[in-house]
Amino acid sequence: MTANRSILVLPGDGIGPEVMTETRRVLDWLGKRRAVKFDVAEGLCGGAALDVHGVPITDDTVRKAMEVDAVLFGAVGGPKWDKLPFEKKPERGLLRLRKEMDLFANLRPAICFPALAEASTLKTELVQGLDILIVRELTGGVYFGQPRGIERLPDGQRRGVNTQVYTTDEIRRVVRVAAELARKRKKKLCSVEKANVMESGVLWREEATKVVTSEFPDVELSHMYADNCAMQLVRNPKQFDVIVTDNLFGDILSDAAAMLTGSLGMLPSASLGARDKTGRRKALYEPVHGSAPDIVGQNLANPLAMILSAAMMLRYSFDLEAEAATIEKAVEQVLAGGIRTADIMQKGKARVSTTTMGDTLLRELDKLG
Ligand code: NAD
Repeated sequence: MTANRSILVLPGDGIGPEVMTETRRVLDWLGKRRAVKFDVAEGLCGGAALDVHGVPITDDTVRKAMEVDAVLFGAVGGPKWDKLPFEKKPERGLLRLRKEMDLFANLRPAICFPALAEASTLKTELVQGLDILIVRELTGGVYFGQPRGIERLPDGQRRGVNTQVYTTDEIRRVVRVAAELARKRKKKLCSVEKANVMESGVLWREEATKVVTSEFPDVELSHMYADNCAMQLVRNPKQFDVIVTDNLFGDILSDAAAMLTGSLGMLPSASLGARDKTGRRKALYEPVHGSAPDIVGQNLANPLAMILSAAMMLRYSFDLEAEAATIEKAVEQVLAGGIRTADIMQKGKARVSTTTMGDTLLRELDKLG
């Protein structure tokens, strides 16, 4: 009998396989203790695929990624493949997946676990209890707009050109994703652009307003200029619930929001595509961090970002809210118990390895039942 929930696991390179191993143990726990089963297939991406197949991802792996309900992705890259030409680099495997799966909405939660609030660079009271979600448009805007390039001018100067461009459909679909998510949270959505100086921002504001007022009347929509949003994120981040913004502003604002909550080793993410006729979305879940070549093979990596990415998968691809919340609660308890990997180590706490962090988390999950 199949579990009817299909996942393609792509551990990748560096610490990717190390953090994925701990994540698989959590999925196995769900199977045993909650009877939540998955059909899990595993594949190669990045340097691991280059070493075996000579390409950063094979057509077959891309096809599988398109077929499954969710892709669980570790990290790719490393010094071994750094000198390869751009189109062969390990990172091209991930970029190809994002492009072919048309993953246009990137979800980056910034959640501050109480036990880590003191480690934030902001005052504890500003980040204690923080739980915001940034939805960044991922496949359009200035990173992809044409014309682009560096040209030589008649007077000998050079000119670099990139074009910020958005269509109504591109804006509407990402705003829709963000509004759906807001609906499941505190029902507050803040749309961020620079409508004061950019026509694409004016269009963004108009379309966001149309989508939310006509389709999500229960969601409270506000608008903010991106520069103000950057300020507000460090002044009073708890005023936000869900933020939706374009590719460029989202890139910057999501990194700023992430650092409110501490280490790269704690940050999960999700990238979602459009719904098909059955209501299913293509989706890829991955930690924000890379392959961390400096600590690979030393049992030092923090597996929590990867495990929290899997919790996002349970919530957004499989509607398993209770299971997602249980994993997040177990992470909170482990941290409250003073257990830390090196990247989040604080004075007076117990420093543990990747595997011990995994063991401790499983014990907390057992307690939660
Ligand atoms: P990185 O995120 O791999 O590492 C940055 C720093 O954070 C390192 O000191 C690392 O040890 C630490 N770190 C990262 N994740 C950690 C974890 N889970 N636990 C403990 N410490 C952690 O970024 P980088 O050094 O700029 O890049 C290394 C390689 O990863 C490069 O080849 C880069 O291209 C690739 N990369 C891949 C992705 C991806 O696969 N999505 C993202 C970023 C970077």
